Amino acid sequence: MSKPVVAIVGRPNVGKSTIFNRIVGERVSIVEDIPGVTRDRIYSSADWLTHEFNIIDTGGIDLRDEPFLEQIRQQAEIAMDEADVIIFLVNGRDGVTAQDEQVAKILYRTKKPVILAVNKIDNPDMRHMIYDFYTLGIGEPYPISGSHGLGLGDLLDEVAKNFPQDDDGEYPDDVIKFSLIGRPNVGKSSLVNSFLGEERVIVSDVAGTTRDAVDTQYEYDGQPYVIIDTAGMRKKGKVYESTEKYSVLRALRAIERSDVVLVVLNAEEGIQEQDKKIAGYAHEAGKAVIIIVNKWDAIEKDEKTMNVMTRKIREHFLFLDYAPIVFVSALSGKRVHNVLEVINRVNENHSRRIQSSILNEVIEDAVAMNPAPTDKGRRLRLYYVTQVAIQPPTFVVFVNEPELMHFSYERFLQNRIRESFDFEGTPIRLITRART
Ligand code: GDP
Ligand code: GDP
Repeated sequence: MSKPVVAIVGRPNVGKSTIFNRIVGERVSIVEDIPGVTRDRIYSSADWLTHEFNIIDTGGIDLRDEPFLEQIRQQAEIAMDEADVIIFLVNGRDGVTAQDEQVAKILYRTKKPVILAVNKIDNPDMRHMIYDFYTLGIGEPYPISGSHGLGLGDLLDEVAKNFPQDDDGEYPDDVIKFSLIGRPNVGKSSLVNSFLGEERVIVSDVAGTTRDAVDTQYEYDGQPYVIIDTAGMRKKGKVYESTEKYSVLRALRAIERSDVVLVVLNAEEGIQEQDKKIAGYAHEAGKAVIIIVNKWDAIEKDEKTMNVMTRKIREHFLFLDYAPIVFVSALSGKRVHNVLEVINRVNENHSRRIQSSILNEVIEDAVAMNPAPTDKGRRLRLYYVTQVAIQPPTFVVFVNEPELMHFSYERFLQNRIRESFDFEGTPIRLITRART
């Protein structure tokens, strides 16, 4: 399911990052304690009332060495390319500036909804300052104060009203959506071409919603797939596509829309920090993950090379211990067809449901083997386990006192679940709740 995307644009210092942080709030990231893995500051999930969405601070995309007007233009274009709703932010205290007018002029070209927010209206006496901004021709200005947290509710109500209807159901349920992520030059485009070049592949025309114009639909052995493109994979062109933050942003968007994420590494270059960062996001987003080692043809090998590389990957990607590793060569096509089989397998595991009765037997056996922890004379008691969700499989354990559940015991239970059922390639989640 893909969440709507909101982007904030506006000239520097109007308060974009302040508003971004307000809307995002304090979000705890479950992989934050893994070194090198933190959510990118310019992109986050957020929610307002019952609406969930993703939000981008285009001001955080570093477009160094460009003249001011060019930077603003590129930020506005990123917003127009990536977002469903655009918040155009201005500073109420400065009145309408020439730069605001330039931004407005660029935004006139989009058909997407643009909502004008006038920031730094810190108290009701300042409200009259918003009227000036009608001259921008964007519509009704919404007064807000990022630093005081005022007016955000009304603004977000308006934003949510403009979310696209029927955002889900882009593709039928049986379609497997996957993306290839990884640093430039690891071979993502070559792999896609290699998939599409396989015999018996039927490529159909792209369904052509504007937002997903670069998705590729195809069928192999009766199974329909959609390859979700990331920046610069096949449609290289726009200047900003080469900036690192933008390619991370594009990768995060693609991950969000995928069922299965292929983390592509280059056998010649080994593992780098950025590989871990993006892989961490796929894990955190709860997607099925496969690690692909490409360019396997290009290195000197003996019978140990594969084991050595596997061990290195496991050391670097501790949090992806469930992800299968496939060694391929996009160039020669070697083992590329295996990738599709692995995709099918992990996709099935990602949606696997376990009957409660069988699940509880496994947990009872686990507790008998390794009794639950105690603290100051109190023992954790496990009453009942049930699977509450798929994609990823999520289990709730009902207990007497959730504080007594230790991380290590949770890990033990997860491992028991993994040993008993096939969850290869998918993260699983365990939530501890008090039985009421
Ligand atoms: P950006 O460059 O658009 O991301 O702007 P920032 O979020 O960095 O904010 C620029 C400056 O404006 C900072 O010093 C903020 O503290 C200040 N600022 C942001 N929002 C408000 C507001 O609602 N009222 C006032 N008075 N100052 C604000
Ligand atoms: P992307 O930026 O990740 O999409 O990478 P490309 O698919 O554009 O590939 C980058 C370069 O690596 C190109 O010169 C490819 O020909 C080369 N390449 C891709 N896959 C392989 C492979 O399996 N083996 C070798 N030797 N080169 C490859």
